[in-house]
Amino acid sequence: MGYIEPHAHMVSRTTDDYKAMAMAGCEIICEPAFWAGFDRSSPQGFYDYFRQLTEYEPARSAKFGIDHYCWLCINPKEAEDPGFAREVMAMIPDFLTAPTVLGIGEIGLNKNTKNELAIFEEHVALAQKYDLPILIHTPHLEDKLKGTKLIIDSLKNAGVDRGRVIIDHVEEHTAGLVLDEGFWAGMTLYPESKCTPARAIDMLETFGMENVWMNSACDWGISDPLAVPKCLQEMKRRQHNKATIEKVSYANPMAFLGQSKNFRPVES
Ligand SMILES: [Zn+2]
Repeated sequence: MGYIEPHAHMVSRTTDDYKAMAMAGCEIICEPAFWAGFDRSSPQGFYDYFRQLTEYEPARSAKFGIDHYCWLCINPKEAEDPGFAREVMAMIPDFLTAPTVLGIGEIGLNKNTKNELAIFEEHVALAQKYDLPILIHTPHLEDKLKGTKLIIDSLKNAGVDRGRVIIDHVEEHTAGLVLDEGFWAGMTLYPESKCTPARAIDMLETFGMENVWMNSACDWGISDPLAVPKCLQEMKRRQHNKATIEKVSYANPMAFLGQSKNFRPVES
């Protein structure tokens, strides 16, 4: 059975990872723009990164029969310097004409600062201007609940179409908040921090299977590009039926991503 990996930072992964994902049934990968593991020394560094996301990575992915899409933004970690961030954001409209750009993301908050929030709001305005969906990163650990609430308040003030916004990295204490307000929720499966497959499935059983997806968010850190298929195996072991597994791993991401005009999956 095929699955979609809706959040993976493939620029930091090897071709072996692509191969393993293809063998596990991955048909589509979506790659949000994020921190590279180090701060770029100039806004121009993002020009190269956006080219990597829109040109090179789709070509690399295609060699393994996987469609590759991306999201563009300056990540919250490097958005702490608003002048720098605005120079990067000024480049985004030129890249929106690339055929595989889905929307604006992953924007959000890192340390919940004023500067981060200001740049977050400017990204939301950019998405509204170009009628694009939004993918949101929420902060980790002790900053998560406060950050999620700030993000939700800001989105409500902006009057966004909530069904076209996914708030990622939800945990037990934020999933209900996000879903009750009408946003989509993403669950990130991490071997160390964030949630394990068991916790993710507990959440699905608690909050339901509507408007949720699962991802590995694999990047340059300790992470597992096969986290999604491993979680699907665990769902099977816990007696979830095929239709439910297919909904979470395929139909749900298809429904959310299908709201982007550039998402054109080949019918399998
Ligand atoms: Zn990410």
